[in-house]
Amino acid sequence: MTVYTERQEALAGVIDDDSSRSDWTDWKWHVRNTIRTVSGFEKVLGIKFSDSERKKHEMTLRKFPLAITPYYLSLIDEEDYENDPVFLQSFPSPEELKIERCDMTDPLHEDEDSPVPGITHRYPDRVLFHISNLCSMYCRHCTRKRKVGDQDSIPSTSQLEKGIEYIRNTPQVRDVLLSGGDPFMLSDEKLDWILTKIGEIEHVEVVRIGTRMPVVLPYRITDDLVNMLKKHHPLWINTHFNHPREVTDSSRRAIAKLADAGIPLGNQSVLLAGVNDCPRLIKTLNQKLVKNRVRPYYLYQCDLSEGLSHFRTPVGKGIEILESLRGHTSGFAVPTYVVDAPGGGGKIPVMPNYIVSWATNKVVLRNYEGVITTYTEPDSYECNTCDRNCADCNLQLKEEDAEEKAIGIEKLISDWDDTLSLTPEDNERAERNSHVA
Ligand SMILES: *Cc1c(COP(=O)(O)O)cnc(C)c1O
Repeated sequence: MTVYTERQEALAGVIDDDSSRSDWTDWKWHVRNTIRTVSGFEKVLGIKFSDSERKKHEMTLRKFPLAITPYYLSLIDEEDYENDPVFLQSFPSPEELKIERCDMTDPLHEDEDSPVPGITHRYPDRVLFHISNLCSMYCRHCTRKRKVGDQDSIPSTSQLEKGIEYIRNTPQVRDVLLSGGDPFMLSDEKLDWILTKIGEIEHVEVVRIGTRMPVVLPYRITDDLVNMLKKHHPLWINTHFNHPREVTDSSRRAIAKLADAGIPLGNQSVLLAGVNDCPRLIKTLNQKLVKNRVRPYYLYQCDLSEGLSHFRTPVGKGIEILESLRGHTSGFAVPTYVVDAPGGGGKIPVMPNYIVSWATNKVVLRNYEGVITTYTEPDSYECNTCDRNCADCNLQLKEEDAEEKAIGIEKLISDWDDTLSLTPEDNERAERNSHVA
């Protein structure tokens, strides 16, 4: 496997006259030499925009800054850069300045659902912890576009300590998702410190890191980093490949190091118009990932953040893609397709319908080939009616902490809570009735 192509060698020379062979695989060299201007981009890629194009790009950059690592830029095909998936994900489009009516600065209410700065606590048992607002490459489709390049919001040690304190004081949190920005923009020492602090909290059972480094700067995955991470198991990592072209030799090496360290790897892709909105492409990507020990985890519908309208597809596109995966390829090459609900509702899975009909004792189902089949349900099923008293139940769940309350639909279908319906807050009928009393 080569880690340094002729093209990359030539690019390194254009970027930095004094560059040596070892620089290309030094992640700090890439961070130092990240391309941040339109003219820098033109120079390195060897292209020239017209004056009007350049003006448009520079205007876009004033709102949403540009950053591309030399490595990621080296993947762009300069012959057809306008359609290049790497170009489209990293270089601004004038379309980003188009604000649609549905656009929001914080569609997922990450700031609203934040008990302390840096923490988003949306789900009962896990939190998102933003430990870095820096990225080596600014994805044009970033859902946190509002924060990109906001140098002031790099969390200080005392802010990180407050986040850790929140986790320590919140016993429900058993899963901590380190995100950002890219957590791997922090030094090994800082990460080690954070992971150690979180590791000391007894109720935290698992830590995950979300990083795009294996895709945009794979040399960040150094032996030192991996040796440090290994000390903090159980640790999971999710990365962010969107196109098969991103699975390069360098990326494969980075992934292999993490997998060899016993870190389970997942991938979160975003469905992007003009980049990867193709069933064959997503299938190829997922098969490549599986071959490299990365489990496709989520396929995201593009969020309603400002500046992303040109990337959005109809939800039907995602369902069509899922239809082409399930049954057609390995089950573990099929991600869950999700719409992250605007307003902080969280991830909602969406998929093709497989239940065709249902009677009292039979379900009619269809498979991926269109075969329609029936599953006969049991005549006698001894239902375990649950009163939350595990000690008296035959199922032998010996957990002491079965105290958690049911939420939402789970509550409606539970045996031990007699809630019959959930009513929206702004229900007019309920409002009227409250006055009648
Ligand atoms: C995505 C997300 C999580 C993690 O969700 P999983 O479905 O467990 O992967 C947690 N918190 C927030 C705010 C999220 O957006």
